[in-house]
Amino acid sequence: MANEQTCFICEALDASPAKTPDDQAVAIPFRAPQFPGHTVVAPAAHHDLEDVTDEEWIAIGQAARRTSIRTRAEDPDIEKIYLVAIGDVDRGHLHFHVLPKRKNGTPLGPFVFGELGWISSDPKLS
Ligand SMILES: [Zn+2]
Repeated sequence: MANEQTCFICEALDASPAKTPDDQAVAIPFRAPQFPGHTVVAPAAHHDLEDVTDEEWIAIGQAARRTSIRTRAEDPDIEKIYLVAIGDVDRGHLHFHVLPKRKNGTPLGPFVFGELGWISSDPKLS
C-alpha cells in the first residue's frame, strides 16, 4: 500500500509544470547530477517497489526508453546509458537513475554514485 510520505521526487514533481494528471511515470533531471543528462525516472505517484501497478511498470519502462533515446539524440558523444534502480520498500519512492556515459568518459561500473559514496568501492570516492 502506498505510503503518504513525500520525498525529493514528489517535491520535484510538485514544482514541475510538465506533469499531467494522467501521467503514470515521469522523467525529471536529477537534483545532484553526476553527469550532464542525469535523469530520474519514477512512478508519478509516491509508490515504492511493492506498490507499483502493472500499468505503472509499463509507463516507467517507456519513460526510461524515451529518456535514453532523447539523451542520446541530444549528444552523439554518449556511448552507453546506465539504468540504476532504487527500490526502497519502507519509505522510498521507486526510481531509476538514467546515467549517460560519454566516449572517453569515466566508466561508471560500481562507481555509479561516486562522491555520494553509496555503492562505490573506491576509497577515493567513499
Ligand atoms: Zn515520493
